[in-house]
Amino acid sequence: MKTRLYTPGPTMVPEQVSLEMAAPIIHHRTPEFSKVLQSCHEGLQYLFQTKNPVLMLTCSGTGAMEGAVVSVLSRSTLTLVVRGGKFGERWGEICAAYGVPFVPLDVPWGESVTAEQLEEALVANPGVRAVCLTQSETSTGALNDIKALAAVVKKRNALCLVDSITGCGVHELRVDEWGIDVAVTGSQKGLMLPPGLAFAALSDEAWEAVKRTDLPSYYLSFAKHRKSWEKTTTPWTPAITLLTGLARALEMIRSEGLEKLWERHQTMAEAMRQAVRTLGLPLFPRVPANVQTVIALPDGLDYSRLSKQLFNVYGMKTAGGQDQLTGKILRVAHLGYLDDGDIVAGVSFLERALADVGWKVNSGEAVAAAQRVLSRTPAAQ
Ligand SMILES: *Cc1c(COP(=O)(O)O)cnc(C)c1O
Repeated sequence: MKTRLYTPGPTMVPEQVSLEMAAPIIHHRTPEFSKVLQSCHEGLQYLFQTKNPVLMLTCSGTGAMEGAVVSVLSRSTLTLVVRGGKFGERWGEICAAYGVPFVPLDVPWGESVTAEQLEEALVANPGVRAVCLTQSETSTGALNDIKALAAVVKKRNALCLVDSITGCGVHELRVDEWGIDVAVTGSQKGLMLPPGLAFAALSDEAWEAVKRTDLPSYYLSFAKHRKSWEKTTTPWTPAITLLTGLARALEMIRSEGLEKLWERHQTMAEAMRQAVRTLGLPLFPRVPANVQTVIALPDGLDYSRLSKQLFNVYGMKTAGGQDQLTGKILRVAHLGYLDDGDIVAGVSFLERALADVGWKVNSGEAVAAAQRVLSRTPAAQ
């Protein structure tokens, strides 16, 4: 059976990228590998829309979050952490681990934080010098408007740190133009690679903060990574194979073009959402990211039966909810290496699995609804 990942990480890897990574290993202190690095540097600057270096770390996305905290913040940096799910919480947990004082701004899971809420919290806490945000809160499916939020943070002269781990490569992200000080992502989400790499883009102001930090770091020290970046090398042995894959994946992204890529994700997400509405199922987040379609499972629709049916019978791997959302949501992700065909297939599997577990489905209706969005023709009345 063919397995398809409709999960918000890891995501499916294109054949071109897998083939690149299947080549014999090369040594990392060679001109040949410097070329790979150079190509990654340029591709990442395009991806993050920044003129500054984008660091490449050998770790999962969380490593870049941790690297950002230990490199950019200090023991005295009062930090506001916006929490609306598992990943917002993670920023707070990392701050706590290193003794960085923080105040939480909690929004209910499934909600997005508004610019007004953020402004209010910053007015109430005038000592705040850094704010940690999550562009796409993958645990709930909610999208945060980073452009608007970063503007609020900048107005108050604080540093703006953004977890864009599922935002980057899916949603518009303009690090320099939007005044983001740190943006991080990982390889196994929108970048269409296996897990194992993480990336961080920093503003000039953030680089100044790196010089002042009093927090301990070594492997994840952004200062060390920056020094090597300038020489088109890495401070220690990098994940050579993944980086050759990255160069290829970034080429694919560049040839598609960021605007087209954002638009493709928007269309795929809208098609899936329309299909889910047609199936009579409610969507969970109020402002959904285009990363995944998060279904709020109604009473009588059992998460584990449905997800097992999808995977065991149709090879469709989906994700569930964590913590307070355990058993309450089904997450169908559509980020990275997917096209219209994957969306139609996914909707078809969803229709069939729902029917299998006893949910009333008019076979083909949801597929037709998705197709109407994909072919951008107005819905029939
Ligand atoms: C996946 C994810 C992370 C964690 O990344 P790992 O690669 O699992 O360390 C953090 N934030 C968001 C929004 C994510 O989707």
